[in-house]
Amino acid sequence: MARYIESNCKLCRREGTKLFLKGSRCLTEKCAVEKRAYAPGQHGQSAGRRRKASQYSRQLREKQKVKRIYGLNETQFRATFERALGEAGRTGENLLVALESRLDNIVYRMGLAPSRKAARQLVRHRHVEVNGRPVDVPSFHVRPGDQVGINRASRELDVIAVSLDQAAKGQPVSWITVDRGAMAGTLVERPTREAIPIAAEEQLIVELYSK
Ligand code: SF4
Repeated sequence: MARYIESNCKLCRREGTKLFLKGSRCLTEKCAVEKRAYAPGQHGQSAGRRRKASQYSRQLREKQKVKRIYGLNETQFRATFERALGEAGRTGENLLVALESRLDNIVYRMGLAPSRKAARQLVRHRHVEVNGRPVDVPSFHVRPGDQVGINRASRELDVIAVSLDQAAKGQPVSWITVDRGAMAGTLVERPTREAIPIAAEEQLIVELYSK
C-alpha cells in the first residue's frame, strides 16, 4: 500500500489548518501552521492570493483535509464513503461517524495514543484489545458497548502513560468513557455530528463523490 512519507506539518500547511497529526507538538508554538501560515513550496506564500477557489477546488480540499485528519489513503477513504452512502440518514454524517468508529481513532480519542498515527501503531503491534480479545486491524469498526483497552502485557509502555497524562488536560468527547487506571474505555453510543469535534464541511465531500 502506498504510504505518505512527507512531513505531516506540510499537510496541515497545504490545507491551511491544523490537522493535529503530531500529538502534543500541535498544541505548542512549534506548530508549523502557527509559524508559517501559508502553503508549503516555492509559491506557497502567493498561492492563496491568486484567485477565488472554485467549488470543485473547495470540495477537493475538504476531502483531502478529512482524509488526512484520519490518515487514510484514497482507496480506504472512498471505500468508507461508499459504505456511508449505503446507510440510512445523511451520508456526510455517516461518513464522519464511520471514520470516528475506526479502532485507531477510538484509541486516539481515549487518550491512549498522542495521535491517530501512533494509535495505529499500537493496534498493528497488538497492544490493543476489544472486549478482551486482541485486534490488530486499525480499521476495525468499534460498536456502541464495545470495550477497548491496552492488553495487560503492554501497560508499561511509556507512550501510553504519557499520552494519558496529556489527554487528561484536554476535552474528552461525550460518547466515550475512559478509565485511565485500567487503560481502557467504552464507546457508549454512536456519536452525533454535533458531538464530533472535527471542523469539516462534509457535504462538500458528498458533492465531490456524487459527480
Ligand atoms: Fe499540523 Fe501538528 Fe504539525 Fe501543527 S504541529 S502543522 S497541527 S501536524
